[in-house]
Amino acid sequence: MRIIMLGAPGAGKGTQAKKIAGKYNIPHISTGDIFRANIKNGTELGKKAKTYMDQGLLVPDELTCDLVVDRIQQEDAQNGYVLDGFPRTIPQAECLTAALEKLGSKIDYAIDVDVPDSNIVNRMSGRRACLKCGATYHIVYAAPAKEGVCDTCGEALVLRDDDKPETVQKRLNVYHDQTQPLIDYYTKAGVLKSVDGTKDLEEVFQAIVSILGE
Ligand code: ADP
Ligand code: ADP
Ligand code: ZN
Repeated sequence: MRIIMLGAPGAGKGTQAKKIAGKYNIPHISTGDIFRANIKNGTELGKKAKTYMDQGLLVPDELTCDLVVDRIQQEDAQNGYVLDGFPRTIPQAECLTAALEKLGSKIDYAIDVDVPDSNIVNRMSGRRACLKCGATYHIVYAAPAKEGVCDTCGEALVLRDDDKPETVQKRLNVYHDQTQPLIDYYTKAGVLKSVDGTKDLEEVFQAIVSILGE
């Protein structure tokens, strides 16, 4: 099963992508996590990506598409994957479609997690991230067992720099300008499915499972 997660920053794509990956036994591929890991490790890619991410802007398409096309050809992705945070622009979607065509493959589902902007700032200010293992929490809706500590790996949780309210508004504008057009793109491709992302996270997951099948 080859799945794309669409939705605004903070809509719950990552949360649901991890649950999908667990249930269907496919890798969760998050471009945001890949960039953050590169920043943490001080790589060239990380240095380039950071200047854009800190400003709430998208990393240029050329730096992003090759990375993903390479990742989806690895051994663990042969039976499918869930892409989270990619594609984010029409050129990225076109790049992915072309690469998949060459590989004789295609996207089966593009799941749009629909959440209005008015809910997003609240979600983001409560989000806490583990930069070591990529786990995500919310101080109210998905709290870790011990405050400020990752359940999975014990690392200290942080509020991402780009989750501060002034950057979140900018990211929402970028989303509406550059990413929302993908809803049309994947509707035309016949694979778009929408779920109401304002619901409780288990309810959102149930809606997704009823689309993907048990
Ligand atoms: P969120 O899950 O809140 O939407 P991400 O972790 O997906 O955030 O992305 C964080 C930042 O990483 C984005 O604001 C952007 O700067 C960069 N980024 C992630 N994925 C992409 C992509 N596909 N294209 C360009 N930039 C990206
Ligand atoms: P995205 O990957 O789309 O940026 P996340 O999955 O990181 O979004 O979710 C953003 C924040 O909202 C996180 O703190 C997460 O724990 C929380 N969250 C995710 N889904 C829900 C939900 N259905 N209800 C309430 N909070 C949620
Ligand atoms: Zn962790």
